[in-house]
Parts: sequence; C-alpha cells; structure tokens
Amino acid sequence: MNYPEGFATMYRACFGADAWERIQDLASSPPHRGIRLLARDRAPAASSAVRSALRQAVPWETGAYELPAGLQAGADPFHAAGLYYLQEPSAMAPVSALAPQPGELVLDLCAAPGGKTVQIGDRLGTAGILVANEIDPGRAGVLTENIERTGTMATVTNLSPARLAAAFPGSFDAVLVDAPCSGEGMFRKEPAAVDQWNVGLVAACADTQLEILSTAAAMVRPGGRMVYSTCTFNPIEDECVCIEFLSRAADWELCPLELPGSAAGLSATELERAAREWPPLAGRTDALRAASQVPTGHCARYLPGGADVEGHFVALFQRRKSSAPPSSAPEGAPRSIPDGHRRNAKARGEPARDPGSSPRLADAWRGFAHDALRRAPCPPGAELLAQGARLYCAPPGPAGASGVLRPGLPLISNRHRHVVPEHALAIALRCADARRPLRLAYGDPRILAYLRGEEIEATAEESERLTDGWTLICIEDASLGWGKLSGGCIKNHYPRGLRRPYRFVWPH
Ligand code: SAM
Repeated sequence: MNYPEGFATMYRACFGADAWERIQDLASSPPHRGIRLLARDRAPAASSAVRSALRQAVPWETGAYELPAGLQAGADPFHAAGLYYLQEPSAMAPVSALAPQPGELVLDLCAAPGGKTVQIGDRLGTAGILVANEIDPGRAGVLTENIERTGTMATVTNLSPARLAAAFPGSFDAVLVDAPCSGEGMFRKEPAAVDQWNVGLVAACADTQLEILSTAAAMVRPGGRMVYSTCTFNPIEDECVCIEFLSRAADWELCPLELPGSAAGLSATELERAAREWPPLAGRTDALRAASQVPTGHCARYLPGGADVEGHFVALFQRRKSSAPPSSAPEGAPRSIPDGHRRNAKARGEPARDPGSSPRLADAWRGFAHDALRRAPCPPGAELLAQGARLYCAPPGPAGASGVLRPGLPLISNRHRHVVPEHALAIALRCADARRPLRLAYGDPRILAYLRGEEIEATAEESERLTDGWTLICIEDASLGWGKLSGGCIKNHYPRGLRRPYRFVWPH
C-alpha cells in the first residue's frame, strides 16, 4: 500500500519515526478482526466452533476477542442467531469509555452500520432506552438490519443531529458521537480510503465533526456524559476538535480516560512538533497549538502496531451538574422522553395508539403472546404501538415523528389478514421464553436446512410435544426464527432476505 505523502508527513510528525516504521511494516498484512460475544451467549456454549477457537481476549471490552485468521465466524449458525458481532477491536473502545449503565437513556448519534449500537444495547439489555440515529437513509437500513439480527432493543431514527436536538434538549444520560472522519484507521481495511484522503478532506471533516459534537452536547442532561470518537489519527480531527468544542462549551469538561492498550492523546510537546513539521493548512496551526491544552491522559488513541488494532481515537466529556436545565422542545417537535419515565419500571401493555387497525393488532398480540410465549421481551415503561401493519413494543421516545424508522421492537405484523410474529421478536427471545420451542442440538442438520429457507420435519415425539402452531426454532438455548408446525412439517418463516445457501462444517 502506498500511503499518501501528506499522511506520511503527518504521521511521522505526530507519532515519531518508530511508529511510522511500524505502520509501514503492517501495511501489507491483513487487517485485524475482532468478535464480541453478546451477553446472552457468555454462558458456556462449549460446542460452538467459534467459541472454542477464541484465545486472545480484548482487554478493554468484556466478552470480546481477537478473531483468529481464517475463522469464518459469520458462517456459524450462532451468528445467524445473533450471538456474535464481528467488530474490529479498537472500534469497541468508544463504548467501553462511555460505559452505558442499565436504566440509562443513551443516544448513538452517528450509528450505522451499528457495531457500537449493538454494543450499547448489549450492555443495557431491556433496562434503559437506546436511540440509534443515522443521517444517511441507505445506511440507516443497514443499521436496522444489524439491530434486528442481534435482537437489540433500540429505537432507530433517520434524522439530522439538529432535528434530534430540537426534540431531545438535555435529555440523555450518555451520548456517543462516533463521527464521520477521514478514515486513516481504515486504510488497511478499505483501500478506497487511501485514495480519498487529502488535507482538504481532513479540514472538512474537522468542521463537520465540531458541528456534530456541539449539536450532540445540547442533548446531554446536566451531569451526563458524551464520548467523541473517530477512526482517524490526525490531531486536526481529534485533539483539535475536542479543544475547539471545549472553548465554546463552558459547562463541559474533558475526563481522564484509562483504556487498556491505548496510547494517551498527544502531549503538548508532540503537538508543538506536529504544528512545526506538518503545516497542513493555514489557520489550522493555531488549532494544533491550542490543542496542546489537552491534559495528558485525557484522550486515548489506538495506533496500529501498539495494540493489535487498526486504530481509533476516543475522548470522554462530562457536562457539569450545575449547567442550565434544558429548554423544552419546540411546538410540533417529536415528543421527548418524559423525565423519570424509565424509572416507572412497569410495562404498561396499553392498547396501541393508532385508532384504526391497532386495537385489533394489540388484541392479536395478546392472543399470540398468551398462546406462544412464557415471557414477552417488552422493557419496563414500553407501550404497544402500531406503525403501518406492524405492532411494536416501543419505549418512550420520538414515536410517531417522521424519520422514525423503528419505534422499538417489532412484535407482530398483519400480512394479508394473517398475524405473523416478527423475526426481530424471535431473536429477542431466549428459547425458554417460548411455550413450544423446537430446541435443536448444535450440529443438527435441520439448522442449516432452516437457514436455507427449507421446510423441516419434526420427529413424532417433537410433533406430539409441540402441537400444531407457531414454534420458536432454537439452536441450544439461542433462538433462530419462527416456524409453523402442521402435521409433522415445519413451514419455514425465516426471512427471505436472510436465507442463504448455508454450508458449514460442524465441529466433531
Ligand atoms: N458508529 C458506527 C458503527 O460503530 O458502526 C460507525 C459510524 S461512521 C464512523 C459515521 C456515520 O456518521 C456514518 O454512518 C455517516 O453516514 C454519518 N454521518 C455523516 N455525516 C454526518 C452528519 N453531518 N451528521 C451526522 N452523521 C453523519
């Protein structure tokens, strides 16, 4: 790989000749890959081919590992069951720094494709509210798919940061701003990023990042936290944006950050050197000098060849408790999360608010839940909400506003006058939550047949035990999707868009 000349100058100036040599040595080797086992799979699933191949833990995130070269984790049926998320290890660090706690209201502002959303959702479980926003409509679709594949409880919006900020002033306990950037940490993974890189792009990204960060800050409650992260190395987009933001936001401070395996942000001396040796744009030199005010240890940077990573920058901010209370949302804006709502920890299960089809959908849901489930996965404080032909379990949030793609967890939908349970509901359940689960042992050939979209047969014993109707297809304790048993055959309801010619060699 040929790094752009301007990038080489910047990297040497900021991180020194040794670091430049290390990144060059790694340039032609394959990028690092990582895997996170979602919380519900941390219990021993010893038979899983993927689990048994994982050796090297990622020190800054629980349940995360380096993915050994050649291991096809995406082909393991447990991946289809939403038990794993493949994510580069340094990309896990921003959520580790944000440390979302169960019960909190969390916003992931620049969320697609969703690695960090799923990571936050895994930490919250059903306790708390997660809003995942993505400004790009196409990428918002990918975000929704990843959320559904992993059974993550989240509201998905496709709004500009400014529009969200108007709806949620001072509302969130924690906000993640994983900002669009010049992508220097993606050079090995996405060679196109090398061609696109130039100093003008760095400067343009810095301007956008500052605007997004300032808008995001308006959505954090007094005393709340905000993480700013990029997958780029240059201080113009990293330390400089942090300092510029602080210079405009008197009620915010940068917090000390300890992330195992990371290097501290650039010191005052290093930034002075960078300003001398990498004069990228007139006017930015002052920003570099100003960034030397960042106290050592208050930002973290992963560099290739330091830890086994591609690279990321992370900074953690806190809004002072004494800062002014939020102003109320303007007329006509989507409704904001009522204060204290999340702590009224009681699922209300009220009828849907849509006056048309929804009461019938809500009744159909109650009938389905009574017949097929032991436990419904609705979090405390959530409501039943109809949007189109689909019924959701919706936490308080921007429901009903344009730009809300998914107001919560899809439960059932009305398709051609038939009530059909949603795939996302299946994945959000555990096998034990269903009254009639078909629990297949890891290695049962019917698992791959099901994932290919084929009808599968129940044994005589299974048919008798399950009785005809909706059944939750499971691998061991993990749910995979819905099937409908009739006369010994299970009709396949695995979503057509997810079906593949699955081939997988089961471990012996
Ligand atoms: N957090 C994501 C993850 O872990 O999968 C990656 C986010 S990516 C680095 C940055 C995202 O910001 C992109 O999806 C991009 O579409 C979005 N974006 C681009 N311009 C934006 C803007 N002006 N405001 C908000 N988001 C923007």
